[in-house]
Amino acid sequence: MHRVAIIGGGFGGLFAARMLRRAAVEVTLVDRTNYHLFQPLLYQVATGILSEGQIAPPIRNVLRRQKNVTVEMAEVAGFDLANRRLSAKRSDGSGLQIPYDSLIVAAGAGQSYFGHDEYSVWAPGMKTIDDALELRGRILGAFEMAELEQDPDLQREWLTFVVVGGGPTGVEIAGQIAELSRRVLPRDFRRIEPGTARVLLFDGGSEILAGFGDRLAGKGARELERLGVEIRTGSLVADIDRTGVEVKGPGGDVERVAARTKVWAAGVQASPLARMLAEATGAECDRAGRVAVEPDCSLPGHPEVFAVGDMMSMGGLPGVAEVAMQQGIHASRTIKRRLDGKEPQPFRYRDLGSMAMVSRFRAVVSFKGLRLSGILGWLMWLLVHLAFLTGTWNRVTTIFGWTVSFIGRGRSQRTITLQQAMGRTAIEQIGGREELRRKVSEGERDRSS
Ligand SMILES: Cc1cc2nc3c(=O)[nH]c(=O)nc-3n(C[C@H](O)[C@H](O)[C@H](O)COP(=O)(O)OP(=O)(O)OC[C@H]3O[C@@H](n4cnc5c(N)ncnc54)[C@H](O)[C@@H]3O)c2cc1C
Repeated sequence: MHRVAIIGGGFGGLFAARMLRRAAVEVTLVDRTNYHLFQPLLYQVATGILSEGQIAPPIRNVLRRQKNVTVEMAEVAGFDLANRRLSAKRSDGSGLQIPYDSLIVAAGAGQSYFGHDEYSVWAPGMKTIDDALELRGRILGAFEMAELEQDPDLQREWLTFVVVGGGPTGVEIAGQIAELSRRVLPRDFRRIEPGTARVLLFDGGSEILAGFGDRLAGKGARELERLGVEIRTGSLVADIDRTGVEVKGPGGDVERVAARTKVWAAGVQASPLARMLAEATGAECDRAGRVAVEPDCSLPGHPEVFAVGDMMSMGGLPGVAEVAMQQGIHASRTIKRRLDGKEPQPFRYRDLGSMAMVSRFRAVVSFKGLRLSGILGWLMWLLVHLAFLTGTWNRVTTIFGWTVSFIGRGRSQRTITLQQAMGRTAIEQIGGREELRRKVSEGERDRSS
């Protein structure tokens, strides 16, 4: 049986696996997490609208009916392209070698702090469930801390929220922090007025939502301002620490903003596996670490190896879910075509546009020639997100969560724990995630011996 290994159970990997459901192949899907994450709704987990389970079902469960797939939870550490084998590490520290005949790498991208990884301790990004839960702990925790604070300056510091990056993710989280403070929290607190919280959105460019064109970008900005978000364009973050950020404005002057809660929604860096593939095949890597692929998404000199989604570069395609899904499907179709003795075909992207929800009942949507905003845009946003969410039960409960949050004034997921809010800082203190993993594996080995 032809063996297909897939790295990553995100949009690219999952759609690639599904496309092989009727093929006479044996599929091994490896992911370092046990879930398939719907990243576009992470900001709703961070702001208490949805639970993490609603946007991240277990990969095993999603693929349970597909008998030709085995799911392995392990982190891929390297490839041996010559011998067609990849090596991975399970969370108990044990190694795993996976031989393959075809390989699809869909390992996605992480956050980029543009050379300042130290910012990540004070300004979590928005890439993982850990990020979203930590941000939820910090955002809701900030209101709790403000309620305890006697000193008005420190209280203001807790009630100031900074979002870095004016793309769709930055706009969505800024909008939701503003709605949380103005609509949801005011009746719950006695000593503070949550509605007076400041939400600042910094972006280095000349406008937010730059990819949507002037008209939609302008509408999005006006809607955010109506919610009370302060938009600062032409502003570059020069430093971030525990109690605030330093920002260089358009005139070159540096301003300090005292803010305890910071969110980083600014840059992406492809998975390190992209660079490994580039080194092994002689392919180019761009500044974001994405490996350049051939027209059929394969790697130069290795027609059996494909890189898809956020970790690859091809003709300026954006890092969006549609590209990953369509490329995952294309890679699997190519494998099937080859098995049927047919020639591979080049990948053609069908652009289905982009969208961002600015606030409840307001979204901007750019779809082919169509430009929608306001309630029409929001309805389209709602339908598209529901359609792509995985699992019927998740869709039903998500509709319930949205009804509570957008029609009512509630947020059903407001539980926070100290462990969530402090997770990153605690891990940093023991020497980072790698060190934590090493300690866990050593602990496991000690116990078993
Ligand atoms: C906050 C946010 C909002 C977004 N909003 C939108 C939106 O509105 N519309 C849109 O189209 N796109 C949006 N995107 C982008 C979209 O989510 C990505 O383009 C898409 O997820 C890319 O799919 P992928 O398969 O390439 O990677 P991913 O979906 O990131 O999947 C990568 C998978 O690989 C696994 N992995 C990584 N490294 C390893 C390893 N070494 N070993 C094993 N497994 C590994 C990861 O655990 C993960 O499951 C958003 C992204 C973010 C972060």
